[in-house]
Amino acid sequence: MYNARAYSAAGAASPLARTTIARRDPMDHDVQIEILFCGICHSDLHSVRNEWSEFMGTVYPIVPGHEIVGRVTNTGKAVTKFKTGDLAGVGCLVDSDRTCPRCKAGLENFCPNLTLTFNSPDKYLGGVTYGGYSDSIVVDERFALRVPANLGLAGTAPLLCAGITTYSPMRRQGVGQGKKVGVVGLGGLGHMGVKFAHAMGAHVVVFTTTPNKKEDALRVGADEVVVSRNADEMKKHTNSFDFILDCVSADHDVNAYLNLLGMNGNLTIVGAPAKPLGVHAFALIFGNRSFSGSNIGGLPETQEMLDFCGAHNITADVEVIPIQKANEAYERLLRSDVKYRFSIDMASLKSE
Ligand SMILES: [Zn+2]
Ligand SMILES: [Zn+2]
Repeated sequence: MYNARAYSAAGAASPLARTTIARRDPMDHDVQIEILFCGICHSDLHSVRNEWSEFMGTVYPIVPGHEIVGRVTNTGKAVTKFKTGDLAGVGCLVDSDRTCPRCKAGLENFCPNLTLTFNSPDKYLGGVTYGGYSDSIVVDERFALRVPANLGLAGTAPLLCAGITTYSPMRRQGVGQGKKVGVVGLGGLGHMGVKFAHAMGAHVVVFTTTPNKKEDALRVGADEVVVSRNADEMKKHTNSFDFILDCVSADHDVNAYLNLLGMNGNLTIVGAPAKPLGVHAFALIFGNRSFSGSNIGGLPETQEMLDFCGAHNITADVEVIPIQKANEAYERLLRSDVKYRFSIDMASLKSE
């Protein structure tokens, strides 16, 4: 065991503050990573404030963060994928049972015995796992991703959660050339969705409630922008989409978007509104439409996504902050006051 620097919260009402945590020494299959950047995901905030207590109560102190990029500083003797000095990424999970059908299919994200990057029981040290708001992490090489060398690291961090969350459903639904794709909401998830759909060759339409986001939507790769409050504009797109990615976390009328799907069209939701959404059966029945959800991705697909980003030069648009501004960033996140994701420069933790 060794001591790592980190930022943790002591309770649901406590701010994040400087602390020291224990990390395991690298075992045979482990890589030790010096964390250079960690993205701030909305689920960090939900977990720190114990807002998801019904299905995963927070154990305090909590060190959040599951959008991690850094450099390998040490490897166990059986490691083959990395050597010291390589870039590496860690996303939402750091372990699984590796033996169940889902793990064997490369869908570790749905393993019944998965270990999340933070706030999951830690098999090795006891207590719970600690995430990326830290200067280092130790993880089995199977759960570390290779990071393309051409990408800016601050903008690469959010790919590990926001990136795979939006990439996976697009691949599953066959987004590509000749397809018409809608992205609802231009935020942390939405702007990634637009970049991926555009790079996959689709015709991309962004739906936003905010007319002043139009220019930005076009800049990140949209072909058209529709202000969703404008009923006439919405109507023009009835029955025309192959796929719509719904990234809205606030309450909204999902039927308005289901009605824009063509035959066999699919709407996948990746935003998480607190209240149930009222779906009209006829919005699905007419045209054999489907309504799905999606939850990050397995390790092989996460690697595929990173490689795709390397080939197409895709990163998230980020505002880089020192870790001392993490509490302030949470307040701004609640006001959607960020374009489009915060990325913590972990060098700031060393200077403290
Ligand atoms: Zn996340
Ligand atoms: Zn498994």
